Amino acid sequence: MNAGRTPILAIDSVSVAFGDKVRALDDVSLNIARGEIVGLVGESGSGKSTLCRTLMGLGEATSGTVRIDGEPLADRLDRDRLGFRREVQMLLQDAVASLSPRMRVRRLVEEPLHVHRLPLAAGRARILTLLKRLGLPESSLEKFPHQLSGGQARRVAILRALVLQPEVIVADEPTAGLDVSVQGELLNLMMDLHAEFRLTYLIVSHNLNVIRRITTRSVVMYLGQIVEEAPTAALFRAPAHPYTAALLSTNPVVDPGKRRVRIVLRGEIPSPIHVPSGCRFHTRCPHAQARCRQEMPDLRALGDGRKVRCHFPLAETAGLA
Ligand code: SF4
Repeated sequence: MNAGRTPILAIDSVSVAFGDKVRALDDVSLNIARGEIVGLVGESGSGKSTLCRTLMGLGEATSGTVRIDGEPLADRLDRDRLGFRREVQMLLQDAVASLSPRMRVRRLVEEPLHVHRLPLAAGRARILTLLKRLGLPESSLEKFPHQLSGGQARRVAILRALVLQPEVIVADEPTAGLDVSVQGELLNLMMDLHAEFRLTYLIVSHNLNVIRRITTRSVVMYLGQIVEEAPTAALFRAPAHPYTAALLSTNPVVDPGKRRVRIVLRGEIPSPIHVPSGCRFHTRCPHAQARCRQEMPDLRALGDGRKVRCHFPLAETAGLA
């Protein structure tokens, strides 16, 4: 992150509770600088979706603050809800399902212009430019979503977002369900668009190869907390948190010489209703010790720009502390 600049998105000590019992997010802090590409990883139930919803203003924080460009999100939504919706766009995991099946692509991509009361002529010209940029033929404007391939549907969803000239794109599993070659093309396109339109990305994915390929910083969540945050290259080279190590060990790698020994975790991620005492990961951690069951570790800085929430970071990186 660029030191000294106001982050475009800042989450400060945000907790989200549902009723008395469920704590979906617990004291999460994260800054995203303008132009950054941040990856968010973790199993289902780790809090990724709740974090994204909170960032998008679709769910309220129980405590803590979300800021956009330094302004509290609640104030921004009161002042200029539509402007915020233009500035921060979300790409949903199921691109076809996110497009209304009864509308042709032309209507789908023009709809945001109507909703946001933007000049139609300029918007339509932008749509034509973006169609070319995204490698979609003009004839695709007359198609219905079910007539598009998975890759084309993603491109239409991206076009719908870009027509509003956003600053931030939150992408949920941007390549899920696509063939490997189409995934590669889409990621290349996203990287090009990032540079061309000076976008900021938050990429949420189970696919660690996607995170590794396009993000510069990665955030790992477990049971509502950030457990590790690091420059992506450092995280993949030597994870400091045992949970990160377990996630990475299941990631298929092309080079057999670099394959990690697979770490099989015990059981499932616990329910947020029954959060374990001490370190939340201790019920599954192969390195757990007595202290881990009693004392919750803080998220603390190590020496290479990373933070880890563990009393005993892995030996490979512990020398950085
Ligand atoms: S604090 Fe203990 S249980 Fe938690 S991740 Fe570290 S070693 Fe494992």
